Amino acid sequence: MESGDYLCGTPTWCPGCGNFSIRIALSQALAELNLLPKDVLLVADVGCGGNENNWFKTYVFHSLHGRSLPLALGARIANPKLTVIAQAGDGGAYGEGLNHLLHACRINVPVVYLVHNNQLYSLTAGQASPTTDVSSKTVSTPAGVSEMPVNPIALAISAGASFVARGFSGDIVHLKELLKKAILHRGFALVDVLQPCITLNKVNTFDWYKQRIYKLDKPERDRISALKFAFDADKLPIGVLLEETRAVPVFDLSKEADVSVLMKEFS
Ligand code: SF4
Repeated sequence: MESGDYLCGTPTWCPGCGNFSIRIALSQALAELNLLPKDVLLVADVGCGGNENNWFKTYVFHSLHGRSLPLALGARIANPKLTVIAQAGDGGAYGEGLNHLLHACRINVPVVYLVHNNQLYSLTAGQASPTTDVSSKTVSTPAGVSEMPVNPIALAISAGASFVARGFSGDIVHLKELLKKAILHRGFALVDVLQPCITLNKVNTFDWYKQRIYKLDKPERDRISALKFAFDADKLPIGVLLEETRAVPVFDLSKEADVSVLMKEFS
C-alpha cells in the first residue's frame, strides 16, 4: 500500500498547521503496516484535528465533543478485525473526555488514541484548554491561565495504560514510527502529539518545541521510571515513554485466551 491510498481531498487547515504532518504520518504508518483502508476505522472528535476524517479514505466516524474514545472502544469490541484509531484534540481528550481516557487505560481495548495537542481550543477561536500553560493569555483568559495544566502522559501512566507515547508533528518520520508501534501494541495506546497551532498559539511554536524536545532511546518498562520522564519540568521527551511487556489483561474478544481472563476478572 502507498500512503496516498488512504487519503482524499484537500485539507482546509491553515497553511503550516501541525495537523498536516499528523495526517501524513498516519497515512504512512497505515501503508507501511499494509493495512487495507476497509479494515481501518478512524473516529474523530470535534476540532480542527477532527476534520481530518474528511480527508481519509478509510472508514470514518465523527463523534460528539470528547466522545471519540468510547465510540472507538465499542467499535473495536464489536469488530475485533478492525484497526481502530480514535482522534481528539487536547480539549476533547483531556477536558470533556478525560474520564473516558482514564477508563480506557484500565479496560485496555486495543485502540490507538491519537491526540492532537496544541494547548488550545483552536476550532472555536483559541480558548484555553486543559493543557494550556499557566499564565498563558488567551481569548478566554486575558489575565492569564491560573490553573495548572493537565499532564496527560502522567495521567495515562498512573491510570494503568500499557503503552504511552509522545510525538511531535514537526518530525513526521519519528511520529510515523510511533504510530506503527502503537497500532501493533496489544492493548490501549495513547499517542499524545505536540501539534503547534500556528495561527492562534504564538508561544508554543515549532521553534519553541524544537528547543525543548529530545528523543528517548527506548521505552521504560516500569511506571515509576516512565513517570520521571513524564514530569520532566525543563524538557519534553518524545518517543515511547512506557511499554509494558508483562501480561496485562486485554479486552479483545478476538482472542479466546483473553476472554477467559476477562471472565475471571468479572466473575
Ligand atoms: Fe491548525 Fe490552528 Fe489553523 Fe486549527 S486554527 S487549522 S489548529 S493552525
